[in-house]
Amino acid sequence: MTNYKELGLVNTREMFKRAVAGGYAIPAFNFNTLEQMQAIIQAAVETKSPVIMQVSKGARNYANGTILRYMAQGAVEYAKELGCEHPEIVLHLDHGDTFELCKDCIDNGFSSVMIDGSSLPYEDNIALTKKVVDYAHQHDVTVEAELGVLAGVEDEVVAEESHYTKPEEVIDFSTRSGCDSLAISIGTSHGAYKFKPEQCTRDPKTGKLVPPPLAFDVLHEIEKKLPGFPIVLHGSSSVPQDEVDTINKFGGNLPDAVGIPEEQLREASKSAVCKINIDSDSRLAMTAAIRKHFAEHPDHFDPRQYLKPARENMKKMYIHKIVDVLGSDGKLAQC
Ligand SMILES: [Zn+2]
Repeated sequence: MTNYKELGLVNTREMFKRAVAGGYAIPAFNFNTLEQMQAIIQAAVETKSPVIMQVSKGARNYANGTILRYMAQGAVEYAKELGCEHPEIVLHLDHGDTFELCKDCIDNGFSSVMIDGSSLPYEDNIALTKKVVDYAHQHDVTVEAELGVLAGVEDEVVAEESHYTKPEEVIDFSTRSGCDSLAISIGTSHGAYKFKPEQCTRDPKTGKLVPPPLAFDVLHEIEKKLPGFPIVLHGSSSVPQDEVDTINKFGGNLPDAVGIPEEQLREASKSAVCKINIDSDSRLAMTAAIRKHFAEHPDHFDPRQYLKPARENMKKMYIHKIVDVLGSDGKLAQC
């Protein structure tokens, strides 16, 4: 048993309270590699932002749970070495699908877990979430639950059709499950292909897809039912078209990749939305930099030669999200 407090991590309770009151959102960046972790921590330290480092079940299988635990501890120590005396770093399980997986993470240094029972019947979702909450709270670990279904692909999580969260269910669900935050479905989607071309319009000037707007009316109804309760948005990458263009220019093939416009995420950050999940944008930033580097330096084969610009490009993207979209810069309780 390793409690997260021994690793220098924090849970989400205090940072969410401040984010909801302050009208900004905490970045939740997925990671599986050393370079992603370094870029996340450099960006968080330079902007003085709290940060959630999250791993999915697939990432945990890829990187190994034991290594991840020590990477998170390393992240805390690295932030201090970079000059941040009181970093606020969360290690979060993204899309836990069983009680056993959540328990294993709680027992191995995670400070926050998500139990995603959104594909289950309503009562079963409550029962599973409550079981995780009862265990997590014994260890002061916070729990994110989900109501409503997002479309898209995220690791092994695949949903063809989305359906919005029903505002009339949120009070009953959060009260009976005891969850600390709630992921809702208002039109965001997992992956780099968030919308099919037929769901979008096309910008006549650029030929690029323009996605349908998020359902802010649903979000505002939920906020009215649960004033001050922390709300989470999944699948909120913006799929920057300059990165997609770079990938396609240097041998990639990502036609019609499309994400959530940043203006809409900026607006959501000012509401009760206090955690915004970003994964695909980091993958795109990394891939674009590596493809470009390989095209320009066909003689290079030392991983440091191409992973360094990849790390730089991800860091630039993380800082942009923190400062220009989520507004979590300068929001550490103590610097
Ligand atoms: Zn998700």
